[in-house]
Amino acid sequence: MIFWIDTHCHLDAPDFWPLAHTRQALVATENIVYCVIPAIHVANFDAVRNLAHSQNHSYALGIHPLSVAHAHDDDVAILDATLNQYQDDERLVAVGEIGLDFFDPALNTDLLCERQEFFFHEQLKLARRYRLPVLLHTRKSVDHVLQGLRREAPALGWRGIAHAFNGSWQQATAFLDVGLKLGFGGALTYPRALHLRQLATALPLSAMVLETDAPDMPPQWLYKTAAQRAAREPQGINSPAELPRIGMELAALRAISADDLAKATTHNALQALPKLVDIDQI
Ligand SMILES: [Zn+2]
Repeated sequence: MIFWIDTHCHLDAPDFWPLAHTRQALVATENIVYCVIPAIHVANFDAVRNLAHSQNHSYALGIHPLSVAHAHDDDVAILDATLNQYQDDERLVAVGEIGLDFFDPALNTDLLCERQEFFFHEQLKLARRYRLPVLLHTRKSVDHVLQGLRREAPALGWRGIAHAFNGSWQQATAFLDVGLKLGFGGALTYPRALHLRQLATALPLSAMVLETDAPDMPPQWLYKTAAQRAAREPQGINSPAELPRIGMELAALRAISADDLAKATTHNALQALPKLVDIDQI
């Protein structure tokens, strides 16, 4: 039996209703997959906490950059109050998912970029105040996110994960230098993702944690092209149950055993998210 940690999984997403489907998917594997469930806006804080407790996983609280268009300034105060209320909850392991997204043109207006920066910085401050790691969203925004991290805590460094990392070698090194780990998942299973696969092969093993980002980011074996979808081939649902296979793919790239990869990435996840240590199962 191999133990894996899925450091980023939106298990509360509607794709996983009914929950029976998810349980089935998780039981279908011979492996154990333990999940960290990030929040994306104040409206799902209760859902991720309840799910973590009822399903024996962990969770993070935060306002996602793709949520800021609908978020209110008061939501920062709600996050503050909720972190305060649950700071002794052993299953609350980070502030997240937070960060910046400069990929989506709809979010790239001056006003919304400013709003993204506002929420990002306020939430970095809260992470410092509550001594929690961060789960970072960095799509087309790695350098800005790094600047933000350096500005909020120039000398102290950070703990946490740059999730779904897909930047340059230099950017990878910069994240490692401020104390973060890099999250790798389904994107590396595509043979054409040459740069990402090369990065995942060459980085030190101590830099990496695994994630599915489910239900987003389907691995290659679940992905259906537009033509396949038109031919009514069912779209596979990405779930934490895919993590062992993603891990095996990465292990093969690095020419190590799946067991060694699972052990190393679990160790790295505990370093990035130290409160995971308090969970009995781990
Ligand atoms: Zn996410």
